[in-house]
Amino acid sequence: MDDNQLLRYSRHILLPEIGIDGQQKLLDSNVLLIGAGGLGAPVSLYLAASGVGRFTICDDDSVDLTNLQRQIVHFTDSIGEHKVESARRTLSRINPETIVTTVAERVAGERLEQLVRSADVVIDCTDNFATRHAINRACVKFSRPLVSGAGVRFDGQVAVFDLRRADSPCYHCLFPEGGDLEEMRCAVMGVFAPLVGIIGSIQAAEVLKLLMGVGRDLTGRLLLLDALTMEWRSVRLKKDPHCAVCASGDTTQRNAAEVCVRQ
Ligand SMILES: [Zn+2]
Repeated sequence: MDDNQLLRYSRHILLPEIGIDGQQKLLDSNVLLIGAGGLGAPVSLYLAASGVGRFTICDDDSVDLTNLQRQIVHFTDSIGEHKVESARRTLSRINPETIVTTVAERVAGERLEQLVRSADVVIDCTDNFATRHAINRACVKFSRPLVSGAGVRFDGQVAVFDLRRADSPCYHCLFPEGGDLEEMRCAVMGVFAPLVGIIGSIQAAEVLKLLMGVGRDLTGRLLLLDALTMEWRSVRLKKDPHCAVCASGDTTQRNAAEVCVRQ
């Protein structure tokens, strides 16, 4: 690190849990961020400001006037522009040292697998189940940590699946594909602006911790927020031994998400 970097990251370096070694790990890391909307905005802002060395942002959408109420990485003069380009421009103003690669498409198939394989941590900031499951399958296949967030109306949730660990559940263990969970999208249901800021900021914190190997991440827990009452719940998650995506074969009992009250 040169003198400017020592200054830029000094408030991280002062933390004994991070120090120069931790900051250097961030500078050397490569993350994959899928979705440059309400959650992707705060995630990308914090990762760039924190000095994550390289990240790839994928989103096939363009900036729309209705996005600006909460997608704080985009500005009014970016309307009509690809979200990934708009985000890249903002992030380069915050930290010109972060290398941002943009992918203006809905990634799937081999392309998605290739991106997941080359990332240290994968961040799911998408808003549809099909993409979430595709990201999860690739993360299971290549044993990559997955930081997952969601927010609609006043309800938010965040979870980490550290798929480098054999005992970690995956997204499918929690929300099996084809289950009766109803897809709720902001465009139809509405979303409280700071909700995605809160959830996205937690995602960013978990990504940084995973990259540096500090603290205890959310693996095995799902955090649920009701922003109307500002009450949190923590749901303990277990790997589903019958999971169609991550189960190894030898099975004994079915997973039951055990709710532990922690308010
Ligand atoms: Zn699973």
